[in-house]
Amino acid sequence: MYDISKIREDFPILSRTVYGKPLVYLDNGATTQKPRCVVESITDEYYSVNANVHRGVHFLSQQATNLHEASRETVRKFINARSTSEIVFTRGTTESINLVASTFADSQMQAGDEVIVSVMEHHSNIVSWQLQAARKGIVLKVIPMNDRGELLLDEYEKLFSPRTRIVSVTHVSNVLGTVNPVDKLIEIAHAHNVPVLIDGAQSIPHLPVDVQKLDADFYVFSGHKVYGPTGIGVLYGKETWLDKLPPYQGGGEMIKNVSFEKTTFNELPFKFEAGTPDYIGSTALAKALDYVSAIGMENIEAYEHELTSYAMERLKAIPGMRIFGEAEQKGAVISFLVGNIHHFDMGTLLDRLGIAVRTGHHCAEPLMHRLGIEGTVRASFALYNTKEEIDTLVAGIERVVKMF
Ligand code: PMP
Repeated sequence: MYDISKIREDFPILSRTVYGKPLVYLDNGATTQKPRCVVESITDEYYSVNANVHRGVHFLSQQATNLHEASRETVRKFINARSTSEIVFTRGTTESINLVASTFADSQMQAGDEVIVSVMEHHSNIVSWQLQAARKGIVLKVIPMNDRGELLLDEYEKLFSPRTRIVSVTHVSNVLGTVNPVDKLIEIAHAHNVPVLIDGAQSIPHLPVDVQKLDADFYVFSGHKVYGPTGIGVLYGKETWLDKLPPYQGGGEMIKNVSFEKTTFNELPFKFEAGTPDYIGSTALAKALDYVSAIGMENIEAYEHELTSYAMERLKAIPGMRIFGEAEQKGAVISFLVGNIHHFDMGTLLDRLGIAVRTGHHCAEPLMHRLGIEGTVRASFALYNTKEEIDTLVAGIERVVKMF
């Protein structure tokens, strides 16, 4: 059974007030709140285990190393990767994409080669490739979408050319909530012998992901969006691909032997992990993944689906409401505008009522251009949100509308 009151008790911040009103936190697409077990993991490890990993003979270092490597195994299991060699710890989605864009462009692309992205990408999956376009002369091609916010698969197929080297697309849009058919996108790319990177920043917290079943070549996500700490994220890459890519940064941990004449690199995944890793963060991330696994990703998906359907129904009944993103497959994100009310004004006034939403372009300016708008108000849900909170949001919007 989905015990929502017990779940909410696990997140102390949810019982605080802002401006004297109970907090209604609907900005989960930006970052999620942390359950007690995650916060306690951080303090416990600092208080009782803290030592640098991988290089100490002493007890604490070995204990910290064991925790860090056990966390890698937790991540492996969570996304069903073949081996922990395929799990690279990074600072987050952004760093994971930059790592792949940079090393892939350097080793696998020539001037004139092409990368396919989609119109609904977050800036991190656009600008990372544009930096390589500027350095290497590679070309970006863009999958268009229909007015419901669904990618056009026919148009996608047409983008492939003999120069296509990689496809890099988001699993779930952080603005429209569209759950892209990544299995089909991958299948089509593979039919052209092209690998695929999936940006899982907005999917990992909301639905079960099996990288082997998807046959994704790279899958990336951030810890902080899945109830884990900030500053840690994951790059999953098939071993065959990670082996082909050169190191991203140089330093300790990532080497085997160093001399001034020649340096040899460490085995996977350490080849990509230069410097002291965030071993406190990896343990806390594993706690977060254990937490959601105990509830069950299928249960979370079903619960959030119900919440989103309820919210869509209630929001649509508000006169002047415009919702952006009505895909058949839609996750727990709703972007909207009401009448002529500016998204910033709506967000600021909702905030005064204790309701935290996001406003603006959501790091997806090209998508805003496609929609012909400057920004939206975005409500994004998590496993701890409730229908009562959605009622509060709806009442808040109605109150703001009356003020204009
Ligand atoms: N991709 C998507 C789809 C996102 O929603 C986000 C975060 N808003 C990112 C990438 C970047 O994640 P981070 O800032 O944690 O690196």
